[in-house]
Amino acid sequence: MGRRAFIKTGTLAGLGLGLTGFGAAVSTPESQSPHIRRYPLLGRTGLQISDISFGADRLSRGQEQLVHHAYAAGINYFDTAETYRDGDSEITLGLALRGKRHQVHLASKTLAWADARREDLMRALEGSLRRLQTDYVDIYFNHAVNDLERLRNPEWHAFVEAAKRQGKIRFTGVSGHAGHLQECLDYAIDSGQFDVILCAYNFGQDPRFYQRFLSGFDVVARQPDLPRIIKKARSRGVGVIAMKTLMGARLNDMRPYEVGGATYAQAAFRWVLSNPDVDGLIVSMTSNEAINEFVAASGFRALESEDLPLLQRYAQLNAGSYCRNGCNTCQESCPYGVAIPDVLRTRMYAVDYHDTRMARSEYAMITRNATACLSCSGRPCAGACPYGVRIAELTAATHLLLTG
Ligand code: SF4
Ligand code: SF4
Repeated sequence: MGRRAFIKTGTLAGLGLGLTGFGAAVSTPESQSPHIRRYPLLGRTGLQISDISFGADRLSRGQEQLVHHAYAAGINYFDTAETYRDGDSEITLGLALRGKRHQVHLASKTLAWADARREDLMRALEGSLRRLQTDYVDIYFNHAVNDLERLRNPEWHAFVEAAKRQGKIRFTGVSGHAGHLQECLDYAIDSGQFDVILCAYNFGQDPRFYQRFLSGFDVVARQPDLPRIIKKARSRGVGVIAMKTLMGARLNDMRPYEVGGATYAQAAFRWVLSNPDVDGLIVSMTSNEAINEFVAASGFRALESEDLPLLQRYAQLNAGSYCRNGCNTCQESCPYGVAIPDVLRTRMYAVDYHDTRMARSEYAMITRNATACLSCSGRPCAGACPYGVRIAELTAATHLLLTG
């Protein structure tokens, strides 16, 4: 077997690289498939999760087989939310994991607003438990936080205390990927009230990548604090899970360049997991082939030699159109307060992920959407993005795409 096939299919899995007993009894041909090779501790929770785990944001009814495939590959952490597929993601996970609940860790999320009341939050949690067919979730996240008041809400904390006492939640977390991500994460870690952070983190947001490999580009990463925050989380025992690790997930664009033995996705995962302060990552899993490709990157703690050229190529291809989640530099430029990064994130779901359903659902939750862009000259935000993203053009098009 050539090196390329060796790395792509992850056949290293069967060679004793830290394989745990989880899922080890799979039969041929599953035993030929890639398998998770590392189960790091998730901060102080004591949970050991697969370093590459299942993001269920695109999991629909009838897709239990995908969950079974991931489980057979050794994935033991499944991340969902009440809003994913309008609850269908939780329902599908519940069906797929019947009889396996104690072999896996489940996380779900709710949008706990700054004025949420504890009884409403408890109802939301109980709805998730019903759909997931379980008595408890291992981690319950305050979902997509971009506002400190949502973390300070005493009702959230009273709810968490009650839910933990009743055994419905084991640990709590905060997830985020928008403009105020850094200050929200700092607050969550410093408060000592959150056990896990789930945040957008990829090579495109790490200034070290650009300093070292793309210094000739007219781009500057705008999340210089993220590595510091992740390091702080680690030092305080807060678990760190990365998401949005593929920087837009335009995987097909990269196939012609994957000639050195690695795939772009594997390179991007290895970049994230080579940070010793990151415990693991989640990624949307939408086919058995994607699961095999992703899981093949499990167990690596450093980049392979083929990885950097792929990451560099991807950054070159997407430098002018990818909105860095959490950057927020352009936000003040819009006199109408359009939530530009949020709008562009939903565009990524629709255009890059080809997931119009999720994009529409997320777009509908944006309070300041891009309605104003339809009648705006576009001059205020022209040139506001240091990466050259064509904001006015993309936001207006996103509104039409997701509301038409
Ligand atoms: S459009 Fe540009 S400036 Fe605005 S959030 Fe995205 S990357 Fe940052
Ligand atoms: S086009 Fe106008 S309304 Fe839309 S983001 Fe730019 S400045 Fe704001």
